Amino acid sequence: MGKCSKDKRDLYYRKAKEQGWRARSAFKLLQLDSQFQLFEGVSRVVDLCAAPGSWSQVLSRSLAKESATIVSVDLQPIAPLPGVITLQADITHPSTLTNILKLFGGEPADFVCSDGAPDVTGLHDLDEYIQAQLLLSALTLATNLLRPGGNFVAKIFRGRDVDLLYSQLALLFDKVTCAKPRSSRASSLEAFIVCQGYRPRPGWNPESLLLTPSTMSSRLTKIQDQREERAVAPFVACGDLSDYDADATYPLEAGVASISLDPVQKPTAPPYKTALEKKRNGLL
Ligand code: SAM
Repeated sequence: MGKCSKDKRDLYYRKAKEQGWRARSAFKLLQLDSQFQLFEGVSRVVDLCAAPGSWSQVLSRSLAKESATIVSVDLQPIAPLPGVITLQADITHPSTLTNILKLFGGEPADFVCSDGAPDVTGLHDLDEYIQAQLLLSALTLATNLLRPGGNFVAKIFRGRDVDLLYSQLALLFDKVTCAKPRSSRASSLEAFIVCQGYRPRPGWNPESLLLTPSTMSSRLTKIQDQREERAVAPFVACGDLSDYDADATYPLEAGVASISLDPVQKPTAPPYKTALEKKRNGLL
């Protein structure tokens, strides 16, 4: 998180630093939970694509009394957090499922969440494709990890085929909602699918999704073809109306001096680190 003008412009960015969250995304999970009570009765949870770890912080603080097992996975190393087991792994790799299951001692999870987003290339079709693969990998892990009745939340970008996605998810969960927390900018296509009540399909083995991303989507489409109707997910804007608007600009409080706050957690593996090492070793 940088300093200066952005601190003043984006209230959630500023508030995250003030309240000790590693990223402003913390408010998205908090607002989703206050709308859907996602943390109720949760004792095993998986946070996918979790770095730098603000969702894991929210989980750790909210589930401290339940002494829940929280497993957080990311390609990037996640700096240690109390009560959180961190795993540096690729969610698209099949070994990640085995490693998470080991950490739960073979027990199923109550809640799986994913805030996954790839590094954007600027090539729109490629970015959309990678984002879709990330979502499918998160869903694959969720269907292999969740207990019946468990919940799954994932970031989506509302694009062309989003209604097909809702239909496919409606085959696996009792209730599917598209939610937009107030802390997610209205100007962004970002939203979250909130899938409640996992309902494994009789005779269907979720491990079959583990093959490859391409067979995965065609298999989901085959399940879809068996049902004629298409599902429409209700759209819910969540967060209290008195919450800050992510797209608004707020004046500084009267009489309060503007102080730039340091980041709560410095990046563990910034892209410039390799360049600095190369320079130090005389390779640049
Ligand atoms: N929820 C996080 C938080 O609150 O701090 C922020 C997540 S950030 C928006 C998206 C994350 O997705 C990045 O940390 C990135 O490394 C991770 N990611 C992207 N592709 C991944 C993959 N294939 N496996 C694991 N993590 C991945």
